[in-house]
Amino acid sequence: MKITMLGTGRAVVTECYNTCFVLRERDMPLRSDNLSDNDCISDKGICDNDIQSREKYFLVDGGSGGTILTQLKRASINWKDIKDIFVTHRHMDHILGILWMMRMICQAMKQGEYDGPVRIYAHDEVIDILNKTADMLLTKKETCFIGKEVRLIGVKDGEKKEIIGHKVTFFDIHSSKAKQFGFRIMLDDSSWLTCCGDEPCNETVEKYTADSKWLLHEAFCLAGDAERFRPYEKHHSTVKDACEKAEKLGVRNLLLYHTEDTDIHRRKERYRTEGKKYFSGCLVIPDDLETIDLSDSDTLFTEKGNIMGDQQRLEAFEKMLDNVRKEYDSIQRQMDDLKEQGKTKSATYRQLMGRKMTYQSMISMYEVYGLL
Ligand SMILES: [Zn+2]
Repeated sequence: MKITMLGTGRAVVTECYNTCFVLRERDMPLRSDNLSDNDCISDKGICDNDIQSREKYFLVDGGSGGTILTQLKRASINWKDIKDIFVTHRHMDHILGILWMMRMICQAMKQGEYDGPVRIYAHDEVIDILNKTADMLLTKKETCFIGKEVRLIGVKDGEKKEIIGHKVTFFDIHSSKAKQFGFRIMLDDSSWLTCCGDEPCNETVEKYTADSKWLLHEAFCLAGDAERFRPYEKHHSTVKDACEKAEKLGVRNLLLYHTEDTDIHRRKERYRTEGKKYFSGCLVIPDDLETIDLSDSDTLFTEKGNIMGDQQRLEAFEKMLDNVRKEYDSIQRQMDDLKEQGKTKSATYRQLMGRKMTYQSMISMYEVYGLL
C-alpha cells in the first residue's frame, strides 16, 4: 500500500494544501479473456500494463475546497476512480473538499460517467452535515443519487469495515473540540497504519496507536516556535510532542502533517532536526503530493528518491565498518604471506601496501569520529 499526500497543511495555509491524503492499493488483476496472442502477457499470464493501470483508492478528508481536484490531478489520480472516502470531522479544512467530490461524482453519475457506488464513511454528525449541505448547495438532479449510488455511511466508535481490500477500524479520538474519528487500517496480518486525524492522540486510543507500523499524527509547529504559533490553544501538538508520544507508543514510522507553512521549503529539514531528538524510528515530514510506500519494511521509498530509515542507515554504517576491518585484516595476512616468501619487492606486495594504507586511513577516520 502507498500513501499520497494531497495536502499537508493546517487550516489557514497558502503555501500548501490542507491535510488530506489517498491510500492506494494495487487492485487484484483479473485475467482478461479478450487478450490476443500478441498482448503483453507476463509469467503470471497477466498484462503488465493492465496491472499498473489499476489501483484502488481510499481518500481521507478533502481539504477546504475545489483544490482537492487540482491536487488529485497533479498526483495523476483520476477522481472518478475514487470509490471510498472517509471524513474525520466537520471542520472546514477537512469537509468542504468532500462536498466538491460529491458534486463532481453526482454530476458524472448523471452523465453516466461514474461507475458507482461511492461510499463516504464518517461519524453520524458529519453524515448529517453532508446530507444537509448537499441538499442546500447541490441541485435536485445531483442529490437524487445520494442515498442510492452515493452512500453516506455512518460509522460508530470501534466499527470495522473492509476498504480497498484491507480491514479498517474507525475510532473516536475523544476530541475536546468537534467530535472526530480516526482509523486503523491493517497493512497485513500483523502490521497496521493508524491515523489520528488532526488532534493529539490521547490515552483513550492507545489500543489502536500503540505499536503501529505507521502513525499519521498532526504537528502544528516546532516546539521552538510554540510561543509564536500557540499550538496548545488550538489543541495541537508540536513536533517534539508528537515525536515523544510516538516513541513511547513503540511506533516504527511516524508521518507528521497538518503544520504551519511559514518556512515550507525548509520544513522537512527543520522538523526532522527537532523530531529526531525525541523519536528513534523513521520520521517522515512529507511535502504535498509526495508518495510513500508503506509496505516496505522500515524502508521508505518516496518518488523523490530513496530515503533509508535511520535504523537501516545505522546497519549500513556498521556493515561498512565491519567490511573495512575485514578487508584490512585480509590485506595484512596476504602481505605477511608474501613476506615469509621473501617477496617484499614484488608488484603484488606494493599494491597490497597501497591498499593497506587506504584502509588504514578509513579506520583512522572512524577513530576520529569516535566510532571505534
Ligand atoms: Zn484541521
